[in-house]
Amino acid sequence: MTEAVQRQTNRRYIYQYLYNNSQPATSEELAEALSLGLPAVERSLAGLLEEGMISTAEGGTYVIAPQGRVALGVFLRDDQAQLLAIDICAQELGFRELSIPFSHTPGYYQKILQCLEEFIDSCGLDRDRLLGIGIVIPAVIDQAAGRLVMSPTLDLWDIPLEEIYCHFSRYPVFIENSPNSSGYAACWANREKSSAIYLSLDRGVGGAILQGDQQYMGDHGRSGEFGHMRLVPNGRLCSCGRRGCVEAYCSTSRLSDDLGITLDEFFTRLQGGDGEAAAVWEEYRGHLTDTLANLRVCFDCDIVLGGELSPHLEGLLPELYWDLGEKTLFEGDGFFLQLDRFGSHSVCAGTALRFIEDFLQTY
Ligand SMILES: [Zn+2]
Repeated sequence: MTEAVQRQTNRRYIYQYLYNNSQPATSEELAEALSLGLPAVERSLAGLLEEGMISTAEGGTYVIAPQGRVALGVFLRDDQAQLLAIDICAQELGFRELSIPFSHTPGYYQKILQCLEEFIDSCGLDRDRLLGIGIVIPAVIDQAAGRLVMSPTLDLWDIPLEEIYCHFSRYPVFIENSPNSSGYAACWANREKSSAIYLSLDRGVGGAILQGDQQYMGDHGRSGEFGHMRLVPNGRLCSCGRRGCVEAYCSTSRLSDDLGITLDEFFTRLQGGDGEAAAVWEEYRGHLTDTLANLRVCFDCDIVLGGELSPHLEGLLPELYWDLGEKTLFEGDGFFLQLDRFGSHSVCAGTALRFIEDFLQTY
């Protein structure tokens, strides 16, 4: 190994040690933990400081500099776009919603890029430290062929991804679809654990089966379609054309669109003691906890709730725990239920995290 390679390897060891331990450490502690000579450790620390990757803390210790590298996630929806910036520790640096309806035109992408540049400035991000921009589209994407196969939501049919990439060539860009991105965020948050089920509650209901930081995809890549498990025989019509699916009962549309209000308005009414909202919530909660109890019996692991509903559930967890205690076979409580740490921003977070993870693997 040449001296230059050895130096880079030492830097990586030290950086990853500080990152994974999330604790300040002195140069002596690092030398001992990594079995390296003190002069080599001090040389590496000086290099990392110069690059802005670490900073000094109390007692002559060193810590990760969260903004040493940053990444962005962009979610292009039919009715709006979302922008999210995260640091290397996956902490949110900024989030913005843009009321710009999607259109596959140069003017649209230029407008999004212009808003992105303004967003980068408003978050005070250093472009030299920006690892890349993940762009999420609600579409079936064939990465190998470099094509967007179809997006009924955006009315896009079989186009080369290059038609989108070309508008963002100033930055490293990756395009993917929303289930993959939010599934990746869930995997990332779950990487310390053995297994978990991720259930995403938006207008659509879907999920993922996680084994550590890996996603179980199934034989045909279609695992985790929990929204289309049959919950009520001959029940409500589902978007898939069948009847009685989980999605027909646990879509957030049951709480918002059906009443002609937004999800925020629904939970404001519920908290305000509105009788109609309480009745709708009770029915929704019953179907949700039936679904969760079934998933728990099948998979015997923690269940993480994500999607646009999850930020509204914090204060309602005790009643979900109570229902689950009654409905699950092996437990007397529902403490296996958790909320997604990225909340309703998980789609943007997941795609940005791909750049963070790539960097951590290769730095
Ligand atoms: Zn269905």
